[in-house]
Amino acid sequence: MPACPTCGTTADTPTKVFTVIVEPKEGERGLTQRKVGMYQCSKCNTKFPIIVSRQKYLVVAEDQLRKIQRDLKDLKSTNEELEHKVDRLVKEQEELQETLRRKETESLVKQLEVKLNALEGQVSYLRKEKGELEEKVSKFR
Ligand SMILES: [Zn+2]
Repeated sequence: MPACPTCGTTADTPTKVFTVIVEPKEGERGLTQRKVGMYQCSKCNTKFPIIVSRQKYLVVAEDQLRKIQRDLKDLKSTNEELEHKVDRLVKEQEELQETLRRKETESLVKQLEVKLNALEGQVSYLRKEKGELEEKVSKFR
């Protein structure tokens, strides 16, 4: 709450609020709109101003502003397109991973089938060997 510069008593409501436009200083751009409240001390009657708020305005030529607004609109639509693309890519990637997992499983199954075939070949060879050996042994008895 603003306080009286003379006696320090706080004032609650301004007697008047007005708006001032401040022109830019050297090297600054734009205008500053200040809302100033005029207060009067309830104890010593000193009147004093307090800045309530500041709003800065940049001065832009109308066609420049329109161009900025147009560019912004274009950027928004480009951004939406990009978001859709990203969504699609994410989906495609998920599908690819799924396919990859399936292929890996298929190739693992194939490898196991090859091993199984080899083992079956060995088993039947060993059976044959065993048969021949048994036959030889029986001849020696
Ligand atoms: Zn005062």
